[in-house]
Formats: sequence, structure tokens, C-alpha cells
Amino acid sequence: MRLASRALQCISHQGANAAPPLGAERVGAGIGRMCNLVFERGLGSWIFTSDGEKYLDFSTGIGVANLGHCHPRVVEAVQQQVGKLWHAQVNIAHHKQMLDLTEKLEKVTPKGLDSFLFVTTGSEAVEAAVKLARHATKKPNVIVFQGGYHGRTLLTMSMTSSGTKYRAGYGPHAAGVFVAPHPFFAFHSQTSRPDDATWAVEQLELLLQQQTAPSETCAVVLEPVLGEGGYVPAAPGLLKGIRDFCDRHGLLFIADEVQSGFGRTGSWFAVDHDDVSPDILVFAKGVASGLPLAGLAARRELTALQPPGSQGGTYAGNVVACAAANATLEVMSGSGFMSAVEARGAQLREALELLRQQHPEVIREVRGPGLMIGLEFTDKVGKGFAQKVGKACLQRGLIMLPTGIFETLRIIPPLTVSAEECEMGAKILKEALEACLSE
Ligand code: PLP
Repeated sequence: MRLASRALQCISHQGANAAPPLGAERVGAGIGRMCNLVFERGLGSWIFTSDGEKYLDFSTGIGVANLGHCHPRVVEAVQQQVGKLWHAQVNIAHHKQMLDLTEKLEKVTPKGLDSFLFVTTGSEAVEAAVKLARHATKKPNVIVFQGGYHGRTLLTMSMTSSGTKYRAGYGPHAAGVFVAPHPFFAFHSQTSRPDDATWAVEQLELLLQQQTAPSETCAVVLEPVLGEGGYVPAAPGLLKGIRDFCDRHGLLFIADEVQSGFGRTGSWFAVDHDDVSPDILVFAKGVASGLPLAGLAARRELTALQPPGSQGGTYAGNVVACAAANATLEVMSGSGFMSAVEARGAQLREALELLRQQHPEVIREVRGPGLMIGLEFTDKVGKGFAQKVGKACLQRGLIMLPTGIFETLRIIPPLTVSAEECEMGAKILKEALEACLSE
């Protein structure tokens, strides 16, 4: 690590301050980008630019490259598959990679979920889950939580309340979406708070009495760890509380594990920590290490009722993406994989907690399971501070993303990150923070 650390210090990170590259104006003007780096290749926890600069990637393409960049097992699987068959439309016939993948998924998804449906993006998968819930229950309305993020399509944007930037100017929003308060936002600045889970379930009960009756409500959708909402784990007991609430009122429980799934929290899925089985679990991102694949796991009696052809899509469950997913799941099933995630998470949380103790006036909280860690700053720092620290990290060779409406950084390295790389990342963050504070 000393060698790697020295190497990082010697390498220029001018790209962090670079102007847009030639042709940038043609590429998604208005899309919004954190920086103007031009990525060319990646390996493990590292990503390289076309100018030969090297960055430690604690963003993993927003929680996607869970095995690091270009894991050799995934590269091999993709290369082999692409030479055999790269498109096999799911409404025409089966393909072997998908059959193998469903067998693997059934072993790792929560008990009772035995039917899998594939699409290409997380937003599509959330939409497919809501369609399924509506169809299975014959009821239209869906309850989501304040601070939730579910995607950028019209329905999922309407289900999102983690920032007006995702919604403003794109209305009218989809009907049938009701937002329940989330305890994190309700009690954010308070030191003493009621039992968060009990309070949240009471609010759900009120919602059913005041706004959307059980006879009109098909499902409750929750991210077990809020992602874009600020890296906020569900309060203890909340998942069980929602499960019971749904059972009491005949609603389905949809867990959106697009960001928290596939080892990110140190178990296959975040709901596993509470031993709760949702009726539908939505996944994407880490499932295929970055090839476009997403889907849902549900109970077969729900999915079997749908009219043939009503779900899916031209590229749904692409065969190369499924090959990448099979290799990804094989690597993650290896002995010691999840315990290493726990160990690296504990190491990073310890380092960040030390940093908090050194700067209690600016760091409010370090939180989150496994390698889904949020570091929230206090109100003292002012608007845009998390972004400023992120930029200072980038200038020192570390990629780190802000999240949420409160000033928060998310720390999401590859799940294969080494102890040395964690030490290096924490050291750069400390330097970057202290540089920002001394300005
Ligand atoms: N749900 C959650 C929890 C997410 O974090 C995301 C993306 O970040 C989505 C849904 C949407 O996924 P996609 O961007 O693949 O459409």
C-alpha cells in the first residue's frame, strides 16, 4: 500500500479541474456531470482516464461495479458469451444464461420469491413491480416513502421525493402515488425522538385512513436503505413493521433494492439483516457488474396471473448481461465474500468515526451497513460543502459522490476493495476535508 499510496501522490490529477473535452456539448447537454474526466479503462478499485491519470473509485458508477472494474471472471464470461450469442429475445424462447441465473437467484433472494422477471434498468424494474402489484391486487394506488428514489421514468420520477431536481418541470406527475413520511426527515434535527419504526407505521395507518383506503392501495414501496435520499438505513423494526402492516391490510410489500442489493450491505440483500421477505424485490445495478440488467423477484402466484407479453421488452434479460450476472453471482457466492464486505465496512466506519470525533462540529453522523456508508455533515458547513469535499477528493485522486438534500457523502467502494485501499481512501478524505475547512 505504501507503494500504491506513493504512486497515487506522484500521479497528476489535473483532470479533476479540466474543462469539458472536445465534443462534450454534443453529449447529453444538460445531463449534469460531477467532473470532466474522460474514463478509458478500469481495473479493480481503480479507474484510468484517457490522459493516463489514475483514480481510486469509491463511487463504483453509483453502486454498480460491486466486483470492481473488469473482474476477470466477468470479463471471461462476457467474452465467451459474446462469441456465441448476444441477443435472444425473451418472448420468443428461453436462453440458457437466464435459466441458470434464475436458479442462482432463487438461492440468494429472500424465501418465498420463486419467480423472476428481467428488464434492463432499475426504473423499468420498479415500474414492472408496480404494474405487477396493481394487476395482482386489482387496486391502483401505491405508497412510497419521503426521501425515496425510484428512477427517472414518468412513474418512477413521480414515486421519487429525494429532491425536486428529479421532478421539477416534468409534471404532471403520475397519479396514484401517496408519500408516507420517513422518520429520518421528521426527526432529523431532534436529539430525542419516539421509536422511529412505531411512529412510521402509525403514519402509514393514518395515510390509509386519510388519503388512500386499503381497498384502493396495492403496495408499499421502500428502499431498505435510502440511497439518493441520503444513505439512511431503515430504523430498527421498520421492515418488520411494514411487513405486518401490509399483511394486516392486504397490501404487497415491494423492497427496492436497486442500490442496496447484491452484497452492498454485507448480505445478499438489505432485507436479510431483518429477516424480512417482501412480496416483490426489485434489483439492478450490482447484479451484472454494470452490464444493463435489472429485474424483480416475486411470488410465482403473483406473476403467473399476468397476461403473456405484458411485461419484458426487446432487450429484457439480455443474454450477455445474464452471462455477466451468472459470473458475478458465482464470485459473490465464494466463501468469505460477504464477511470481507463486513470487515472492510467496519474498517471504513471506524476510520470515518475517528474523523468525526476529530471534527465533531462539522461531521454529524457516519452511518450505514456493509459498504453502503453515508457521512453527513452538520448544518454548520453550508450548502454545497459535500460537493466541495468531493471535488477536493477528486483533486487528490479519489472519486466520491455526494447524496441527499442534507450535506452527505456516500462511500461505496467496490465490495472487493482491499484494506490498503480503504486506508488510502480514508486518508485522502481526511486531507480533502481538512483542506476545505482551512480555506
Ligand atoms: N431505485 C433505486 C433505489 C435506485 O437507486 C435507482 C438508481 O439509482 C433506481 C431505482 C433507478 O435505476 P436506473 O437508474 O437503473 O433506472
